[in-house]
Order: sequence, then C-alpha cells, then structure tokens
Amino acid sequence: CGIVGYVGQRSALDVVMGGLRRLEYRGYDSGGVALVADGEIVSAKKAGKLANLDAVLAETVMPPATTGIGHTRWATHGAPNDRNAHPHLDESGRVAVVHNGIIENFAELRAGIEASGRELSSETDTEVVAHLLAAEMERTPDLTEAVRLVCRQLEGAFTLVICHADHPGTVVGARRNSPLVVGRGDGENFLGSDVAAFIEFTRDAIELGQDQVVTITADDVVVTGFDGRPAETREYHVDWDLSA
Ligand code: GLU
Repeated sequence: CGIVGYVGQRSALDVVMGGLRRLEYRGYDSGGVALVADGEIVSAKKAGKLANLDAVLAETVMPPATTGIGHTRWATHGAPNDRNAHPHLDESGRVAVVHNGIIENFAELRAGIEASGRELSSETDTEVVAHLLAAEMERTPDLTEAVRLVCRQLEGAFTLVICHADHPGTVVGARRNSPLVVGRGDGENFLGSDVAAFIEFTRDAIELGQDQVVTITADDVVVTGFDGRPAETREYHVDWDLSA
C-alpha cells in the first residue's frame, strides 16, 4: 500500500520509517523495512500498526545504514500476519522486495519456482519476485537488468522497490499500472508510492511512466523502460502544502 526507498547519507531507517508514517493515511495492516548494511540485508516486519514494528525495531540490533526500503501492506494475497508482511527475501536473504498491487500470474510463477527446488515462505503474490530476481542474478550481476528481466515475466499491477546485499548504495524501483515517484535530493534520492513519502526532504519529483525501471544512487537517477531503452519521464516541483 505504501512504499518508501532511500539512498543517501542519512539513517535510512529513520527516513524510511518517517516516510511510512507519512503514508499511514492510506490505511494498512502490516509494516516492514529492509536495510543494506555491511554486505547483508537486515530486515524487520510486523503485522499491525507501525507502533508494532517500532517495538520489534527497539528489540533488534539494526546496524547503521544509508540504503533502505520500507512498506505498509494492504493484504490481497495471504493473511495479514508477520510472515506475509513485506519485505520478502529470496532463500539466500540477499535480495529484498516490497510491492504494491497484485501479480496476476503469481500462481504459475510460484509453481515454476517450486519446480526448480526453491522454497517459498509466505502466501503472498509478492514473494515470487524475490525468487525470480535471485534466479536472474545468477545469470547477470546487473541488478537493474535483473529487475527488467523479472518485470517482463509479470502480469498485473505492481510498484516494486528492491535492494540487494551486493549493491549497497543502490535501490531499484519498477512500475506497471501502479504509481511510483522519485524524489531528487542533494547527495540523496528517494522513491515513494506518492510524494508524501519524501516531501519532508525534497519537493523535486519525477513521475515514472508505464513499464519503467528506475535505479537510484546517492548522486544519480537513471530511468529506463522494461526493454532497457532510455525512457521519457515527467519532472515536476511539488508546491502544494502538505501540512495536513
Ligand atoms: N499483493 C501484495 C500482498 O498481498 C501487496 C499488497 C499491497 O499493495 O500492499 O502482499
């Protein structure tokens, strides 16, 4: 339901949790975060209000990190419990995915993943994306290209935001039939399901078009189509007041 991604110099956990709070108005049943720290993904997730996630975070050692993603879930596939909360990781725990929307062909994709001997640990449509990404990353070390290859296999509506243990300082997003906005900062960049996710830090936004992938680092934003070609985007300045 709500998505935040961050790469920069600040505490990614603080930025992501702050962004998720700004998106709370949309309603949700669970929350979760993933950080890239010291070559590992560290994640925490919990059903219920963000206060429940705060309680988990208070008991977990979260290493300092400047790359992170977060999600508030509105369950469509699988009960609203801890296990089905996002982020979803692949078996090796190297890639973390958050998702808004519905992957229509997930049952077929899930069967293929299970047939290849991989085990899924949730009931969500989302988890297939983490496993498909892990499989593509065995063929290409390029995270953005792996995301494109996976998106081309998906049907339905999705905003995806992804981080990977081997790619500190990078967050990749993708969208089809579901919104994704980039916030451009100075030495930091943001992703959000809407601008509320990062409005506290920047009002310079880029709206992604249909079937586009974006790769953010602290200093760069690169947008391409699912086909890998450079893509047209709309840049704008958010000048309305968001104090409400
Ligand atoms: N379909 C996904 C799920 O049920 C994402 C739902 C959402 O948009 O939050 O986990």
